[in-house]
Amino acid sequence: MADMKQYVNDVLELVKKRDPNEPEFHNTVKEVLTTIVPVLEKNPQFKDAKILERMVEAERIVTFRVPWQDDKGEIHVNRGFRVQMNSAIGPYKGGLRFHPSVNLSILKFLAFEQVFKNALTGLPIGGGKGGSDFDPKGKSDNEVMKFCQSFMTELVRHIGPNVDVPAGDIGVGGREIGYLFGQYKSIRDAYDAGVLTGKGVQYWGSLARTEATGYGLLYFVKNMLDAKGIDLKDKTVVVSGAGNVAIYAIEKAQSFGAKVVTCSDSNGYVYDPDGIDLAAVKEIKEVRRGRIKEYAETHKNAEYHEGCKGVWTVKCDIALPCATQSELDLDAAKVLVANGVKAVGEGANMPSTLDAIEYFQQNKVLFAPAKAANAGGVATSALEMAQNSERLQWTFEEVDEKLKGIMKNIYEQAKKNAETYADPDDLVAGANISAFVKVANVMMAHGLV
Ligand code: NDP
Repeated sequence: MADMKQYVNDVLELVKKRDPNEPEFHNTVKEVLTTIVPVLEKNPQFKDAKILERMVEAERIVTFRVPWQDDKGEIHVNRGFRVQMNSAIGPYKGGLRFHPSVNLSILKFLAFEQVFKNALTGLPIGGGKGGSDFDPKGKSDNEVMKFCQSFMTELVRHIGPNVDVPAGDIGVGGREIGYLFGQYKSIRDAYDAGVLTGKGVQYWGSLARTEATGYGLLYFVKNMLDAKGIDLKDKTVVVSGAGNVAIYAIEKAQSFGAKVVTCSDSNGYVYDPDGIDLAAVKEIKEVRRGRIKEYAETHKNAEYHEGCKGVWTVKCDIALPCATQSELDLDAAKVLVANGVKAVGEGANMPSTLDAIEYFQQNKVLFAPAKAANAGGVATSALEMAQNSERLQWTFEEVDEKLKGIMKNIYEQAKKNAETYADPDDLVAGANISAFVKVANVMMAHGLV
């Protein structure tokens, strides 16, 4: 039998050689491929069909110029991207990120993750990701609109309800999706509601989409804890971030009776021993687009600390990184473990570094990996596409019930495959294996395309 570990190493080397300057992409490919060796051993046909070599190469990548004019009349030029990674299971699907750190390595890592995450949902969506190095922070509504219109003027050629369906991500929320949709509609002269998800409810967005990633994370974590007889009630929870994912993770954790004591933005974190006042966070971040620092000015027991890393030094039972990639490293993992953390659930994409994950697993911390635990957002986006196809809108409760069922199913698949192929609590391997097998089988069925 061929040595599948060697095969995986060869593919990793190939990726590094082809794209030496893409560390984030290398990391995610390594994380997935090293956990699927037992499946490759049982299914040598995947190696013969060069499934891994095909999966690590995007089906298509477009990069483009995005010129726009600010309120003072000055012209700026940003770079736009769309990575169409894999369409085996359905149209490319994945968010757009507007953040100065955006580059091809980050978008390829996110697109690669998205392929497997989307497969886990059990819904008909392939994987993609896109965005720009544009920074919406500090820009006026008019400037954001101008940028979105210019971005869509090019992107329109590459997307469509049955081709590629973008959504939001960091820096792209309801406002940006609105401007992007308006421009798409204007150029195409057609009301293709299903071309973008995360739309406003008044123009065919799905109820519960805003809440879905954060709620879904908590549904997943609850399934994982229930299986071990651990109750979320009265547990102390540390959350990072104060954006879409973090806010609705806090909301659901609180509704389960947990006490959330932190949240953060890219400048620093707040610790509130009385429990985070979510209405105040929503007011600061969603209404005023302000900084989390302001929270401490109105909450007398709360402390504000400059810098984000310190959030992991707060003693807790459960940690939920919900801000960005690589925000929780080995040092942070060591402090969390020393402070008695029982479970970690990833709301952001790849927030824990590979050595941090390994450390959690060595120390028997229950670990819910991003591609499974935060799949509720994209799953609900697929439900939005379904509603758009039938030109109907479901109730909040209907969507939320479906989301709960999807998260339970993802947990059960990951657990079953962990028990079959790896350590029974290794949900990283379990989720990767579930997703890989689905995508690989469909690629085999489609032949060499
Ligand atoms: P938002 O833009 O709404 O919020 C992001 C939050 O993280 C903000 O509080 C932001 O602070 C903080 N942040 C951003 N970059 C950094 C950084 N470099 N260091 C520290 N903090 C940072 O994004 P989302 O909540 O939508 O996304 C958060 C994460 O969840 C991302 O990894 C995203 O890919 C992932 N995700 C999102 C989904 C969704 O449905 N929205 C679905 C699945 C995954 P600041 O305001 O200072 O920028």
